Amino acid sequence: MHPLDHFKFCPVCGSSHFVENNEKSKRCENCGFIYYANPSSATVALIENEKGELLVVRRKNDPGKGTLDLPGGFVDMDETGEAGMIREVKEETGLDVTHVDYLFSIPNLYRYSGMDIHTLDMFYRCQVRDLSVVHAADDAAGYLWIPKAEIKTEQFGLRSVRQGLHQYLGR
Ligand SMILES: [Zn+2]
Repeated sequence: MHPLDHFKFCPVCGSSHFVENNEKSKRCENCGFIYYANPSSATVALIENEKGELLVVRRKNDPGKGTLDLPGGFVDMDETGEAGMIREVKEETGLDVTHVDYLFSIPNLYRYSGMDIHTLDMFYRCQVRDLSVVHAADDAAGYLWIPKAEIKTEQFGLRSVRQGLHQYLGR
């Protein structure tokens, strides 16, 4: 189902003549309002300790509740990807990121509230000030350090994270 199929009425004037404009947008035949469905920006953190283990969290919420994940989340409005990455790592793990390196991005579908939300997940390698303060909070129900060779991508609930791990780990 196309995400715009959920929107039956013009959000400006309430007209039911809210029709397909092109494959990415709908247009109101009454007031002329046009709405584009663009992907939401999201961030994913790759954090390693001195032993070469990767910081992994367990998802507290759906989609993928209980599965493994990497720290991260949606970018806020008026926020840079880098700032969003630093904020999400702090919220979910308590860690202070001192440096981020953008690596690559992968599109994803994120099932939320009955809708498939299209996202663009941006992966960052993060340097952290003091790994000893790590704890799980916010959207993370727990955390683990997993040696990179022992990462089983099928245990990760989000498709883009599985793909990103394959890419990062060179598999
Ligand atoms: Zn309208």
